[in-house]
Amino acid sequence: VISYLCEHAWLGFGSCESDVLVQVRDDRIVSVRPDAAGHPDAAGAVQLRGITVPGLANAHSHAFHRALRGHTQTGRGTFWTWREQMYRVAERLDPDTLFALARATYAEMVLAGITSVGEFHYLHHGPAGRRYNDPNVLGHTMVDAARSVGLRITLLDTCYLAGGVGDELAGPQLRFGDGDATAWAARADALADVYTGASDVVVGAAVHSVRAVPADQVPVVVGWAAGRGAPLHAHVSEQTAENDACLAAYGRTPTQLLADAGALGPRFTAVHATHLSAQDVSALGSTGSCVCMCPSTERDLADGIGPARALASAGAALSLGSDSQAVVDLFEEARGVELDERLATRARGHFNAGELLLAATNHASLGWADAGRIAAGALADLVTVRLDSTRTAGAPASPEAVVFAATAADVTHVVAAGRVLVRDGDHQLIPDVGRELATAVAAARG
Ligand SMILES: [Zn+2]
Repeated sequence: VISYLCEHAWLGFGSCESDVLVQVRDDRIVSVRPDAAGHPDAAGAVQLRGITVPGLANAHSHAFHRALRGHTQTGRGTFWTWREQMYRVAERLDPDTLFALARATYAEMVLAGITSVGEFHYLHHGPAGRRYNDPNVLGHTMVDAARSVGLRITLLDTCYLAGGVGDELAGPQLRFGDGDATAWAARADALADVYTGASDVVVGAAVHSVRAVPADQVPVVVGWAAGRGAPLHAHVSEQTAENDACLAAYGRTPTQLLADAGALGPRFTAVHATHLSAQDVSALGSTGSCVCMCPSTERDLADGIGPARALASAGAALSLGSDSQAVVDLFEEARGVELDERLATRARGHFNAGELLLAATNHASLGWADAGRIAAGALADLVTVRLDSTRTAGAPASPEAVVFAATAADVTHVVAAGRVLVRDGDHQLIPDVGRELATAVAAARG
């Protein structure tokens, strides 16, 4: 048993507790005792100074987009012009450059306190759609990259069949396509079977979007996820052009189309959900679906502001994602949900800090029901945020300090499933994450 004495810890409520003794055996928390400074077991405990929170869940990631940071923030444009820049990186990657880029990006995530990632993985095949000898080599590459830095991964194997509603795949998109959803399912089965019973990998499914998966193919993906009890994610209504194309072709919104295919429910996550009708909001809420907000990406891509408060009030769970990796900082995403609501409504206080931390620690939408809380029986994920940095000094020991004052750079200690990954701000497996990122991004961009 390893004991940690947390100076302060957030146990899921509106305030923090002090002198919290957390005992860990193997990968699980076995006991949690507040006000335990004088407890005999606290004598030899590892001291965690600052506020300790559960491990953070990055529910929506495209790891290779990390190669775009600082390169695509120039000039003018839209989501669609950004997408062309993203495709230029996607068409160059091979298993080696993708591994290096994903490993370095995942290491950055671990340093930011992330202990589970949902990788929305659609780069399946070689250039021009040529099949690798193992058609899942790039999926395994993502798993290997996550494992090499100690990060749990939910690989959301993404079905991507069309270049737009009614359009064929073209150019770099040929690398994403499996032909039809039945062929996608066969490949996804082969991938998932490899990780059956793994303690650090979940294979889930994704419908890339209603742009990329024709309506008659969506039920195949939905059925695959249902058959395996696996998470199912989809990009939903990130752009109004997607809504327009969907309405024109199918007479329904993307959310309605997915609802008709049986997708909605507690295993489903709608990513972005930016441009929704009132009916869409109530459909997602009443089914207990999850909505993953990615505020830093939604700003960067000029997407718009999604109705986070209305969704939560309707019954939807919220999660957060770094998506395009413009920023890897779930505290920034958490406060972004509230701050964007303030800009949209010109009123303050839509979400309290505890609600935002619940979104930042929502591992359940990635299939990890036992993670995301500091409680006996939960996976032993602990993330400590310092209160003595230039950013956090003077802030109270409260959830507000974590959400509204801290950045990813204030994470000092990360334990994932009982394993110490970050100590005093240093990744224990990767001596120089910045250098690995620089090398990997340069190789990916060529
Ligand atoms: Zn995305």
